[in-house]
Amino acid sequence: MTVDYCILGAGLAGLSLAKNLSDLSQKSILILDPNDVAAGASGTPMGLINPATGRFAHKTWRAEEAVDLAVKNLEVAQSFSDTSFFKKTGVIRPAMDQKIARRMQENFVNDGWPDNWCSWLHEADVKAQFPDLSCTEGAVYVHEAYTVCIPDYLMSLKDYLTHRNLQFKLGTDYTLSVPTSKEGTWTITCSDGSEIKASCVIVTAGIESTSLDVWNELPLHPVKGQVAELKCTSPFPYQSAVSALGYFASLDTNSMVAGSTYEHNFDHTETDEQGLAYILGRMKRVMPEYMDQIVLEKQWAGVRASTPDRMPIVGAHPKYRNLFVLTGLGSKGLLYSGLLGYDLARHIVSGAPLSEEVSVTRFLE
Ligand SMILES: Cc1cc2nc3c(=O)[nH]c(=O)nc-3n(C[C@H](O)[C@H](O)[C@H](O)COP(=O)(O)OP(=O)(O)OC[C@H]3O[C@@H](n4cnc5c(N)ncnc54)[C@H](O)[C@@H]3O)c2cc1C
Repeated sequence: MTVDYCILGAGLAGLSLAKNLSDLSQKSILILDPNDVAAGASGTPMGLINPATGRFAHKTWRAEEAVDLAVKNLEVAQSFSDTSFFKKTGVIRPAMDQKIARRMQENFVNDGWPDNWCSWLHEADVKAQFPDLSCTEGAVYVHEAYTVCIPDYLMSLKDYLTHRNLQFKLGTDYTLSVPTSKEGTWTITCSDGSEIKASCVIVTAGIESTSLDVWNELPLHPVKGQVAELKCTSPFPYQSAVSALGYFASLDTNSMVAGSTYEHNFDHTETDEQGLAYILGRMKRVMPEYMDQIVLEKQWAGVRASTPDRMPIVGAHPKYRNLFVLTGLGSKGLLYSGLLGYDLARHIVSGAPLSEEVSVTRFLE
């Protein structure tokens, strides 16, 4: 098989890039994954598009574009599914102590939020609108925030891309051989005996990106995250998602996801009891009155790819032609995969410059 673009990795990064490449060009695109769609960190059962992140609810880098492009991708995929997999829920970020309240308020005032994206709620307003939610002095309320069932989203995006004649090859191991000449093609030898020749290869394999020799110098750091999928015996009490000491979100009020852990040192990638205890302990501090109205259904664990400056990594390989990467999305893959898939596709097709903040050149020259 011969293709123009071969994307290695079928998570948020790979599928967003595939969509954007196919929007820009008629060239053939194959997405190859030794596992499955959403087999990595993108298998997180529920996540937030939340442009106010960190302890102090800072507006994130290029938040307006990131949310806009993330939502456009969701809408395209939603048209290929009968199940509603995302909702503009907004997110409430209650301050848990006075220092956090002060810093959040400063950021709210100074971050230059677009009109109607964000409000500061005083403690009395929080108590009135979100009974039983712990809060000190007030909360940031982000209107422009979304709750997403990520695996359903990606399965629908896959259907959309297949409809547009993109090809998927899933569940097949392979080896990647570098071209023998400067202008040569890349060869991918698959464990089923087939061979793929690709003019251009883009690695979007999350934390596994460095398992490919060509990208093994990228400074990726694994951060394990666990979540708990919970059944709600009485409806999830809030219309909005809650982000404080983790996140608590529901799309249908009968079930919710509580997460997550941030484990920098771990000796296995499965779920465990410590992870569950950590999550439920945090939930108890945020929503104490609701704890007797939940029943554990499942646990889930995945590994994020973090970077030294906590910004993603995007760009061309400094040595090999026609080799690119999009990884290091950390805990913001849902927020940033749309934007960076868009930027990288333009970079690959027409040489549009990439933002310095995320460029691979900050680590590899
Ligand atoms: C618990 C948890 C909660 C999160 N919550 C949020 C949230 O609320 N909001 C948010 O924005 N983000 C969130 N994230 C982060 C987000 O899930 C990740 O940033 C995102 O999924 C990364 O996408 P990716 O495509 O780069 O990598 P992955 O999703 O890890 O995908 C990599 C893919 O590559 C495949 N692969 C592995 N090896 C190879 C290989 N050699 N060749 C080719 N393919 C390979 C894997 O099978 C996988 O399908 C969360 C993450 C976790 C773990």
